[in-house]
Amino acid sequence: MTSTATDQLSSYNPATGEIVGSVPTTPPSEIKGIVARSASAQIAWRNLSAAERADIIRPAGQVLQDRAEELGELLTLEQGKPLGDGIGEVRGCGERLSDEVNEIADAVKPTILKDESVTSSVRYDSLGVCAAITPWNFPILMPHWMVLPALVTGNSVVLKPSEQTPLIAQAYADVLNQFLPENVLQVVHGEDEQGKTLVEADVDLIAFTGSKAVGQKIMAAAAGGLKRLILELGSKDPMIVLEGADLDKAAQFAATNSFRNCGQVCVSTERIYVQNSIKDQFVERLIEQSKQFTVGNGMDEGSTLGAMIHEEQKAHVVSQINDATSKGAKLIFGGESGERSFLSPAILVDTSHDMDIMRTETFGPVACVTGVASIDEAVDLANDTEYGLGAVVFGEDAQARHTAGRLTAGMIGVNKGIGGAPGTPWVGARQSGFSYHGGPMGHRQFCQVRVISE
Ligand code: NAD
Repeated sequence: MTSTATDQLSSYNPATGEIVGSVPTTPPSEIKGIVARSASAQIAWRNLSAAERADIIRPAGQVLQDRAEELGELLTLEQGKPLGDGIGEVRGCGERLSDEVNEIADAVKPTILKDESVTSSVRYDSLGVCAAITPWNFPILMPHWMVLPALVTGNSVVLKPSEQTPLIAQAYADVLNQFLPENVLQVVHGEDEQGKTLVEADVDLIAFTGSKAVGQKIMAAAAGGLKRLILELGSKDPMIVLEGADLDKAAQFAATNSFRNCGQVCVSTERIYVQNSIKDQFVERLIEQSKQFTVGNGMDEGSTLGAMIHEEQKAHVVSQINDATSKGAKLIFGGESGERSFLSPAILVDTSHDMDIMRTETFGPVACVTGVASIDEAVDLANDTEYGLGAVVFGEDAQARHTAGRLTAGMIGVNKGIGGAPGTPWVGARQSGFSYHGGPMGHRQFCQVRVISE
């Protein structure tokens, strides 16, 4: 939670309302100059090899690990998630950093293609200045996810983190800037005005993770300069539970993936379709699994769910629950509103697609269960969405695998979550994404591909 005084962006603890700290707000009039300095700094940066750039950044991984507890606490104070999760997010970025910079450097080695008459070198060169605009739900991981590939591929970066979590994003940039040349990574702080001004400035690539609505605005604004775009947007991920599924495992997954980080995860399970014959047994188990969560201040030992990011987000979730119950859904567990932005995890059953909660991203701790008569009905309903980030199917292996193949999402898990093998991209379909991240395919999205043939 934040407020912008004239020249300071203050960050508040969502659990207590207390101020955590503040950063100077970037005047929009200064953004053009920041981007110009970024472009100048990029010239020497791009002339290094990717391996040299990786080596420069590598020591930041150890610093993040050494400071994981301190930075994790800052993250929790600012964003609300339990302290263990905050520390884990920082430590994870630090632990993986060295391998990640190696993977990115490997991904941009030229590819050689040839036949008897021509040899072509497909090169993955830098694009220039990358604007990286990030959300608050994983407030160090999301900047890390963009800044690292942008830098190692030879771009300079202007990071505009969420106005809800500026402190941890600034701390992350400060760690990298212990090792980077001046102006290769700069930070712009502020709200949508600063984001909009950055998009309109002379940047070459806009890497954005956030809501669909803002993604659409950015795409429109980028059209004038045909700026390159990577958009990772919202979703309404479905889960299908078939006869033959391990119901304990399915219920455990459903509870965890609906409620972790208070449901403020782009691949949260937001809709659950269960075959009618097993629905009651599944719901019984889901209730049992849901009892394991303890809602409280993220800094308190024992809290497994913290406060939501702010009261507006909670109000959106509560209004979707109320709309659903007014149209026939039953609230059978939780949903109690605490002080500020606290909300206990909720289970709704008998939800249907005429309810807003089955169509518009919730981004809150709600599990919505809908009974279906057949696999065909489950597939039709799961695909009945404008989004398409993740989806999961639980069932007997062969049937679950076949059903997964009929879903239109970008990443689909069979009897597990959506996480793929190392090297797989993070990819959304339809209005959940435009371009993608991660793995060699994703890293190359930060590059200008050029072909030299002789
Ligand atoms: P948001 O879209 O409100 O804000 C994201 C960022 O965009 C912030 O830094 C904000 O200041 C900036 N912004 C706002 N208006 C802008 C404009 N006109 N031009 C440029 N920048 C602008 O999103 P949020 O509330 O911070 O995050 C939640 C959303 O992020 C959810 O929809 C979630 O699904 C999505 N998300 C997606 C993924 C993914 O991988 N697809 C990952 C994490 C979060």
